[in-house]
Amino acid sequence: MEIRPNGDQKGRFYEAIKQKFNKCLCPNMDCEKPAIRAHSVQKATALSFIEEAQHVYGLKMTLKGAEPICEFEKIGRNNASTFTGFCSQHDTELFRPIDTKPLNLKDEEQLFLIAYRSVTRELHAVFEGAAKLQHVHETNVKMGLVKADAPSISAFAPVQALHKAWLTWRYRSDHYDKNLLKGRFKEIAHSIFTISGRLPVVASSSFFPTVENPRDNKKPRIALNMIPVSANETAFIFSYPKAQSADARKFMAPVMLKNGEDRLLALSTFALDTIENFFLRPSHVDSWSAEKRASIQKAYFSTVKDGAFLAPKPEYMLF
Ligand SMILES: [Zn+2]
Repeated sequence: MEIRPNGDQKGRFYEAIKQKFNKCLCPNMDCEKPAIRAHSVQKATALSFIEEAQHVYGLKMTLKGAEPICEFEKIGRNNASTFTGFCSQHDTELFRPIDTKPLNLKDEEQLFLIAYRSVTRELHAVFEGAAKLQHVHETNVKMGLVKADAPSISAFAPVQALHKAWLTWRYRSDHYDKNLLKGRFKEIAHSIFTISGRLPVVASSSFFPTVENPRDNKKPRIALNMIPVSANETAFIFSYPKAQSADARKFMAPVMLKNGEDRLLALSTFALDTIENFFLRPSHVDSWSAEKRASIQKAYFSTVKDGAFLAPKPEYMLF
């Protein structure tokens, strides 16, 4: 494996990874202030349209005995979708256009920032994952389970995770940070649709690659936001660099080329296959049969564990 960052990016990257993962991940990565808990899904609007008694459902990996499994879990709305990715000042300043104005699906700046928050949430997740694996390795060394300088899975895992963090950050830097700092919001393109006339049941902010374990910046990574915008409407926004539109659209075609219920089923399967950070209305999940619930939990677990490609099944319908 080769990590060859260039110039001062390298310095900042290594400076960043030394920090605990409440580091502010602002566009320049040069902020010293601690990050605060902030919402990846807009708290004032999106979650309020699906929460019940201040709770939503999320899918969570947990251990049943020694077996890892995946289960729906009730989460307080104030803990749902939060991550420590920005200090208070950067969180306020960067996202003012989306946090203080109503969502306008024609506003290029708002759409850019919605995607930027998803990208940074994922960046935070991979950094934190690497930090955790590093901690595991250091503990193994301290306990004498592995040697510090000998090859082992324990030593390799954090290096591999750091490489993933580096690639994710470089993607944000090349496609988002540079454009954000210059106000070139149109460099990020969007495929958008809304569903109206039914109660919102899902909210999500996520960012994922379109190939398994990307090694470079050439293949698009896509941000997907599912944002309940009123008591009977949800907006779905796929965001990707304009320069990579052709590949991105090909990847989203199974969803975008369908209509009505078929599109919602395709989107449900797509979501279970590719994203982690999504939340559901509690009474909606409670209305499902035990079989449907089990089938969704199993499908989600298989994609986390094996990166499986799911074929659409009626029971995967999330809407
Ligand atoms: Zn900051």
